[in-house]
Amino acid sequence: MNLTQFKTKAQEIHNLIYTNPCTCEISAYNNNDIKTTSNITLNGSKMKANEYLLGCINCHPISNSTKSQATDRFVQVAHKIHGDKGYLYNLGSSNFICPSHGPQTLGNLRNHLSSITPCSVCDSLRLRDRYISQANKSNKGLTNIYFVSFTSKTSSESFFKVGLCFGSLEDRFKDWLVHYDITPIVFSTGNAADIYDLEQKIHQRIKEKQLSYTPMNAYNFGGASECFLASEECINKLKSYIINKTT
Ligand SMILES: [Zn+2]
Ligand SMILES: [Zn+2]
Repeated sequence: MNLTQFKTKAQEIHNLIYTNPCTCEISAYNNNDIKTTSNITLNGSKMKANEYLLGCINCHPISNSTKSQATDRFVQVAHKIHGDKGYLYNLGSSNFICPSHGPQTLGNLRNHLSSITPCSVCDSLRLRDRYISQANKSNKGLTNIYFVSFTSKTSSESFFKVGLCFGSLEDRFKDWLVHYDITPIVFSTGNAADIYDLEQKIHQRIKEKQLSYTPMNAYNFGGASECFLASEECINKLKSYIINKTT
């Protein structure tokens, strides 16, 4: 949407929530293509486009709603923001209905309004599509799944991680190598969609088995939330599982 359309949409929503309009000078990096996650500038202050729809940082008192049940005003705003998605809301309910995936939890109202895809199933599909199109664009539709172990260079800490990368393990973990020795257990290449689904399934299983582990240096590393601890038996099983699924 272009800047004029975006301003109109924001104004309509602000009118529902606030008594005073935003009077800021608005600009964006690309005024012809404003997306949910675009940065916009308001009299010098920066905000994400989806946050601005819910109120201007300069002109409106933005409160963090803790409510999780649909109110009349919430439903009106939600229709303006997520109208194209066909969600159904019920006053007083803490659920909403996704036309493709049925009842979903509303959660925090403000977060619902500012998320790109509030239905968690739609959101997983969006992330999956994004990953696959990135693989198609830059990696011939392929990706790598790795299963590696980490051993601290300075303490007795050790743990495991499964993940995806387009390049080599050295590239993927260049920030981690200061603290850890990394030993590959499996590294396989395959069709991005299949490998993506395989990785998701493994993460799901790790979560269910409550094996997740946060590394001591986690604040430094992307993907640190995907680390885990496991017995030798479990490691061997997982290793064979990945090899079987990728060869
Ligand atoms: Zn403003
Ligand atoms: Zn959905």
